[in-house]
Amino acid sequence: MNIFHGESLEVSNLIGVIEEHYGVEVRDKGSLDATASNAAHLLKKLGRSFGGHPCLWIVENELFYPEVGSIVGCAASRTALLSDAGLDGDFLASEALHEVGHVLGLPHCRGGCIMSPSASPWGPWRSLPGLSGPSKG
Ligand SMILES: [Zn+2]
Repeated sequence: MNIFHGESLEVSNLIGVIEEHYGVEVRDKGSLDATASNAAHLLKKLGRSFGGHPCLWIVENELFYPEVGSIVGCAASRTALLSDAGLDGDFLASEALHEVGHVLGLPHCRGGCIMSPSASPWGPWRSLPGLSGPSKG
């Protein structure tokens, strides 16, 4: 899968974590800065530009999802978005693993696994079709 990121983000550690967890090859496709914070819009743009190729885009600005509000990450079909704003390294890694899980086709789990939606410091996530919310693995 491909990973895009904000210009000042160092993602080599994160790539190692994702590759080790899922056994997939992750390619650093370089910097791609978000020009908006509307997550639905950004996901659509990502899907159009790289349709069919699984990708994760880590942006530096905060993300907002229409009618939901502030989110850390979301995923739709084979693309995922994650905001680095205000996250420490460990939390960013668990969020990235969660969103990559969606990109690879994993649903939410009910237990305490990385795909659990319930351990969020932002409170329970409201279920939306094709969308995942803040969660901590
Ligand atoms: Zn999710």
